[in-house]
Amino acid sequence: MKFLSFIYEGKNRYGILNNDSTSVIDLKIILNKLNYKIPKDLLEYIQIYSNNLDKEIKKSINQNTYEEIPLENIKILAPIPHPRRNVFCLGKNYADHAKEVDSLPNIDSSIPKHPIYFTKIADPAIGHMDNIIIPTEYTENLDYEVELAIIIGKEGKNISPDNVEEYIFGYTIGNDISARDIQTKHIQWFKGKSLDTTTALGPYIVSKSKIKLPVELDIRCKINGEIRQSSNTRNLIFNIPYIISDLSQGLTLKPGDIILTGTPAGVGAGFKPPKYLKPGDKIESIIEDIGTLINFVK
Ligand code: MG
Repeated sequence: MKFLSFIYEGKNRYGILNNDSTSVIDLKIILNKLNYKIPKDLLEYIQIYSNNLDKEIKKSINQNTYEEIPLENIKILAPIPHPRRNVFCLGKNYADHAKEVDSLPNIDSSIPKHPIYFTKIADPAIGHMDNIIIPTEYTENLDYEVELAIIIGKEGKNISPDNVEEYIFGYTIGNDISARDIQTKHIQWFKGKSLDTTTALGPYIVSKSKIKLPVELDIRCKINGEIRQSSNTRNLIFNIPYIISDLSQGLTLKPGDIILTGTPAGVGAGFKPPKYLKPGDKIESIIEDIGTLINFVK
């Protein structure tokens, strides 16, 4: 199933996408019919139910006629517009990307022996068709990074690599927009990764039942129709079982946590001369079996 957050008739809602991705059913209506407590948003839904209701909801959709709201009548939001904690991120988790950033100052281009973790503020995270606003007085080197995002579905600590699937709710697409000049000036990446409107997520969270481990999905990013990044998530240096297990050693992961797994080669900083984002650009972040997340640069 594909879960999404959206606005319809002026109200924030969350729901399930239909099979041909043309309409959405308000999940609160289904939960009401099934006599379940109704969470206020998709984050709270994941925290309370995780994937436990998936089968029952699917059955209820098949057996009942629910109002289907056409996608053109809704505004899609980031699936989790206000993450409860910073987004967890991995740096340099594709070998080709680790090598391409060697021209940036203060960035070591060697292949990491251990995952490089950092976090970014994404409150709010922007969603499908939303604008990325460049603070031009502050940065001239804004860059794109398409990434597979993991949504955690169950609290866990010291998770074994063999059991990580149990702790995953699903997957979405992320774009870890990065101000390279700020990122490299401060050496620590936090500020350059945390400017307003620089975390794009969506359009949907695909439940883990639709994407089995090992996750091997084509991942691409187009700028104004030109393919800049093209790889497959099988090329992750540290794969999903490794990341979740390693991150959870001594650190409790919680439902609704978001992990951005890193970006492949082809970011703007990797070109000579660099191809940074500019106002008017259209960014398409595409992952097989999930969809396409579109954003515009202002
Ligand atoms: Mg990144």
